[in-house]
Amino acid sequence: MSIAQTISQLISEIKPYGSTLIAVSKTHPAEAVREAYEAGQLDFGENKVQEMQDKKPLLPNEIHWHLIGHLQSNKVKYIAPYVHLVHSVDSLKLLEEINKEAQKNNRIIPCLLQVHIAQEETKFGVDANDIRTWLSNRSLDSFDHVKIKGFMGMASFTPDQQKIRQEFKQLKQLFDECSKHYQSANTEWEALCMGMSADYKIALEEGSTMIRVGSAIFGSR
Ligand SMILES: *Cc1c(COP(=O)(O)O)cnc(C)c1O
Repeated sequence: MSIAQTISQLISEIKPYGSTLIAVSKTHPAEAVREAYEAGQLDFGENKVQEMQDKKPLLPNEIHWHLIGHLQSNKVKYIAPYVHLVHSVDSLKLLEEINKEAQKNNRIIPCLLQVHIAQEETKFGVDANDIRTWLSNRSLDSFDHVKIKGFMGMASFTPDQQKIRQEFKQLKQLFDECSKHYQSANTEWEALCMGMSADYKIALEEGSTMIRVGSAIFGSR
């Protein structure tokens, strides 16, 4: 299937769930992004600042760029003028830096807190209990140039579908708990971003509102 065909098939597949597709274009050239864009796709995910910076000027301005990979504080300044959503906020220090650069650019940057849900050690993210502590201590309230939209999570890399489902369920529960009990001027609980090529179907069944799909659209890396 072509990129365009896969995109339209995915969009109709996720429509009943009301979920948004982020096409993950990392390692694929700007031409591949353009092909997807011309098929109607607006939201693209990159995991590296440099790669996003390189592709952006080659492509239409209206594209929404999502930073989905680990973000170092010293690189925030490059993407702050335009990034659509940062999915990978995993420390207060990073949030503070995003807030600072957003202010410089006179904008509010939408962010997701990346929650560690996989049992593997290797995945980035904040533990659910640390999220609870941040919220109950109101540690996020002073960052008035960010908008916390919800959570992002990555399930374990495993063929065990039950385990993946369980991890997504946990994140959905945390989302429901936080959105119910915690409100502030800089939160808008609306995004639960979970699911990639291998597990997006499970994620949708477990309440994902945003999926990040790369290889299923663009081919293997
Ligand atoms: C690469 C990547 C994806 C997409 O992975 P695929 O398996 O190619 O769909 C999703 N999320 C993050 C954070 C990634 O780095």
